Amino acid sequence: MLDSPFALSCFAVNPANFDFHSHSSVSDGLLSPAEVGQRAAANGVDCWALTDHDDLGGLLEARATAEASGMVFVPGVEISIEWRQTPIHIVGLGFDPTATALNAGLAELRHGRLARARRMGDALAAIGIPGVYDGALTYVTNPSLISRAHFARYLVSIGIARETSEVFQHYLTPGKPGYVDHRWATLADAVGWIRDGGGVAVVAHPGRYRMSGAEMRHFLDDFKALGGQGIEVTCGSHSPDHVLHFARLARHYAFHASRGSDFHGPAESYIDLGRLPALPQDLKPIWRLLC
Ligand code: AMP
Ligand code: MN
Ligand code: MN
Ligand code: MN
Repeated sequence: MLDSPFALSCFAVNPANFDFHSHSSVSDGLLSPAEVGQRAAANGVDCWALTDHDDLGGLLEARATAEASGMVFVPGVEISIEWRQTPIHIVGLGFDPTATALNAGLAELRHGRLARARRMGDALAAIGIPGVYDGALTYVTNPSLISRAHFARYLVSIGIARETSEVFQHYLTPGKPGYVDHRWATLADAVGWIRDGGGVAVVAHPGRYRMSGAEMRHFLDDFKALGGQGIEVTCGSHSPDHVLHFARLARHYAFHASRGSDFHGPAESYIDLGRLPALPQDLKPIWRLLC
C-alpha cells in the first residue's frame, strides 16, 4: 500500500465533508470521473471516493481531478455480491488499485454481465417489450459494465414509466419479469480481495436490503468475522430512522461508520455529492482507518 501511487498521507485536518460513495460513467453513473470530482469539490466535499461498480477504471482520472481540486482522494469500488440469495453491495476503500486478487476478481465479475443483460432483454421481449437489450446498450459507456440502471434509463426513454425507480419496481427487481439472477461474488471473496489490497470493507446502504433484523445481524456477524470493518450509516437511500438504526448496529459491532451519497447523476440521485447529514457524533468515522 505504501508504495502505491494511491497511498494516502494522513489527513492534516479532519475532513469536514467526506463522501465515500459515488459513481461515474465507468459503471452506471452519468458523468465522467472528472465531472463527478469537479461536482464533489463544487459541493464542498473535502475528501472523496469514487466507488464504481466492479471496476477500477476511473480511479486515475478521479485522483488527478481530486488533486487539482484540493480534495483528499480515496480509491474506492462497490462490489456486487450475493449472501444467502440476497444481492448485497460491499464498498472497498483505500486499497492499492493495482492489487492482483482484487483486479482479477473484478474482471471475473464483469465477465458475464453482458450475457445476463441479453437474458434480461429476452425476458422483457417475452412480455411484449422487444429491443430492450440493444436499447440499453445505447446508454452504456463501458460495455463490460452494463447494469440494470442502463435498462431502466432506456425503458423510461420509450415511455414504459416516468422514472427509473418505477421501472425497477415493476420490471427489474426480484420476482419481476425483467429480473435475471446473476452469480455475483461471495462475501468472503469481496472482503478478502479488499483486505488483500490493503483496503477497508464497508457494507453499502444496509437499509436497502430486504432482510429481517435477525438476517441482518447474521450477515453482519459473517461480515465482521471475515474482517469487514465499516458500515454506511448516512447515505443517499437512508431515512432518518435508518440512520438511527444502523448507528446502533455500528456501535454494537464496533464498526467504523461511512457516509456516501451514492450519486449517479444530477437528475437521478436522491442526494447530491456531499449533501448528506453529518454522522452521529459518537460514531468512529471510517476515514480514521484510511490514514
Ligand atoms: P446491477 O448491478 O445490474 O444489478 O444494477 C444495480 C444498479 O441499479 C444499482 O447500482 C443502482 O444504480 C440501480 N438500482 C437498483 N435498484 C434501484 C431502484 N430501486 N431504483 C433506482 N435504481 C436502482
Ligand atoms: Mn448503480
Ligand atoms: Mn449499491
Ligand atoms: Mn452505489
